[in-house]
Amino acid sequence: MLTVNAYAAPSATEPLVKTTIQRRDLGPADVLIEIRYSGICHSDIHTVRGEWGPIQYPQVVGHEIVGIVAEVGSEVSLHHVGDRVGVGCMVNSCRECENCLAGEEQYCLKGNTGTYAAVDLDGTITQGGYATHIVVVEDFVLKVPESIPFEAAAPLLCAGITTYSPLSHWNAGPGKKVAVVGMGGLGHMAVKIAHAMGAEVTVLSQSLSKQEDGLRLGADHYYATSDPATFETLANTFDLIINSVSALIDINAYLSLLRLDGTLVSVGAPAEPLPVQVFSLFGNRRSFAGSGIGSIRETQEMLEFCAEHGIAPETELVAADYINQAYERVLASDVRYRFVIDVATMA
Ligand code: NAP
Ligand code: ZN
Ligand code: ZN
Repeated sequence: MLTVNAYAAPSATEPLVKTTIQRRDLGPADVLIEIRYSGICHSDIHTVRGEWGPIQYPQVVGHEIVGIVAEVGSEVSLHHVGDRVGVGCMVNSCRECENCLAGEEQYCLKGNTGTYAAVDLDGTITQGGYATHIVVVEDFVLKVPESIPFEAAAPLLCAGITTYSPLSHWNAGPGKKVAVVGMGGLGHMAVKIAHAMGAEVTVLSQSLSKQEDGLRLGADHYYATSDPATFETLANTFDLIINSVSALIDINAYLSLLRLDGTLVSVGAPAEPLPVQVFSLFGNRRSFAGSGIGSIRETQEMLEFCAEHGIAPETELVAADYINQAYERVLASDVRYRFVIDVATMA
């Protein structure tokens, strides 16, 4: 076992504290990664605060991980010591169900093994990326292209893939009108990726305070949802809406913005149900869908896409002892646009 420094939540209501955790001994197919940067996703906050259900404490979260391969198991062939690699939201899956065999292991029918707060194969609870090292089986480790700045690569492992996957699946591209609800960590990546795919992009934010940024990141239009006129102006407009909001919103108001056969995909995951009026779907034969992260194959594809298009998240690098303040700022929508922990400050 390897004892490593980490930041853990002691309970649902206390701040995260510096601690140590154990990483398993390297198995033949395992890779030991020295973590350099770890992104802060809103899911980390939902999880440690017990908003998605009870968890065991202490819990280390973090599933936007990049680092350097420090050691490889005897049978590892995909990665080498010194490689720049990444780990996202899952670290394993059953590998034999219909969805795993279809290469969609994020939808493993037995449940993929989450990078944190999940039961690992050995029965322990997985501990995430707010730590100096992690051990992960080689085929759940991604290769990070050299041209993506390392600290900016971290958020691609969740925010990047979670927005790339539905944009790709629902064919965002030339001639398509795509709206992004909420311009936070996921939302700002959705804007960049949808723009790079060639879609006409509209941001629907609570206010116009980030309008200049939104247009700079690739949006063609920017509207405030606090202004009721927005919903009249944009009625029946979009082919695809990506909802990245972490809180409850009036989903029916947003459904009314879809044109014929349009789809609203929720990637945002508030603790509360989002009540849908079926009549909101009847008009324009609309669809309401969800999407969870993306497969390992698609995550690698997304990394290559971002490298090719020069896309990287907008980040604010913070020291580990700033995590609790960063959480408060995420909750106040005061994030520009992803906090990334400099893991060197955990040493
Ligand atoms: P984030 O950085 O906090 O962004 C959320 C954005 O939603 C905020 O910046 C804000 O944008 C908007 N918002 C927040 N509260 C709101 C409210 N009360 N009403 C309306 N808009 C509000 O969070 P994130 O890290 O991007 O994550 C977003 C959500 O996606 C979380 O629920 C997270 O758990 C979930 N998630 C899901 C997956 C998946 O696989 N489906 C993966 C990762 C994350 P404006 O200021 O522009 O309004
Ligand atoms: Zn996440
Ligand atoms: Zn499976």
